[in-house]
Amino acid sequence: MQAVILKLLADLRRQLGMSFLFISHALNVVRLMCDRVLVMYVGKIIETGPAGQVFEQPQHPYTQALVSAIPTIEARARQGHLRLDGDPVSPIDPDPHMCRFYGRCPRQADRCRIQMSHLTPVLEAQLAACHFPESLSTEGNDGLEDHQAGHSDRQL
Ligand code: SF4
Repeated sequence: MQAVILKLLADLRRQLGMSFLFISHALNVVRLMCDRVLVMYVGKIIETGPAGQVFEQPQHPYTQALVSAIPTIEARARQGHLRLDGDPVSPIDPDPHMCRFYGRCPRQADRCRIQMSHLTPVLEAQLAACHFPESLSTEGNDGLEDHQAGHSDRQL
């Protein structure tokens, strides 16, 4: 049944040139169906960009964990399943100054607790709400080493 509905949506999009908003937790389907993706965590958009790019080069640690959980040989061979520890922040009254992923994030630093991260360009056409996106760590690891040591005042 799912395949029938997805085919219908794909046909409508092609025949009528229409756009639609597709909301799902089925990441393989999102990747197949969507040109652009928005990733949300506790009511906040934490990453957005072209679908292929976000799936290939996720920048926010939460997106990385989601992508790593997709059951494909490819993903597991690349980095394995990133397990998230900690508890999700309460969605009832989250601290407006703290990153909502703080407490579960393997890259968390002091700055993340006192300064909310906002969507910022990290790669061409891709934005992430993270003080320490993946692109920063692959530029030489200085940012990650700094914040892991507790010196987290670096500005992006
Ligand atoms: S801002 Fe800090 S806590 Fe939030 S996702 Fe980025 S590194 Fe993790």
